[in-house]
Amino acid sequence: MIKQGCDALQSKSRLSKDKSSSKTLCKVKQPKKTTVKKRAWDAFSKFIRTRDCLKTTGTLERGICITCHQEFAFRELQAGHFIPGRHNANLFSEKGVHAQCSACNKWGLGKPLEYRRAIVSLYGEGYDEVLEKESKEIKKYSVQDLTEICEKYKMKLKELLNESISKNNN
Ligand SMILES: [Zn+2]
Repeated sequence: MIKQGCDALQSKSRLSKDKSSSKTLCKVKQPKKTTVKKRAWDAFSKFIRTRDCLKTTGTLERGICITCHQEFAFRELQAGHFIPGRHNANLFSEKGVHAQCSACNKWGLGKPLEYRRAIVSLYGEGYDEVLEKESKEIKKYSVQDLTEICEKYKMKLKELLNESISKNNN
């Protein structure tokens, strides 16, 4: 009880100070969390699709869908989750997300059986369960986290593109 009272007093005295400083801070507009999240997702999705196009066809223009094994143009591919749910630790999971055509991702609802088979053949027996566990971890992303994720995948995309250029030149 005593502690509570003390905290309340402290925050009261802070309040009057913060009022003046927050006015000046407000001039630098913080981006909205939804905006940052979208940017992070766009960077991650581009990285995933580029990675999988290079891996499956060796080109940047076309890639093979993880669940129907058909070839599609880069723009027709989406970054599809093995386990749906955009709120937990699996949102930005490199092994839990792959290039997938929209027919499989949206209308096939991710094709879970085919996806599970693909995960096991890519990463080994039991990896489907590792990803299942990951998808149950609740992860709250802060604006800072999302900004870092965005930068990380922009960098990783650059690295992929540089690798593919040097491969083509050799
Ligand atoms: Zn497909």
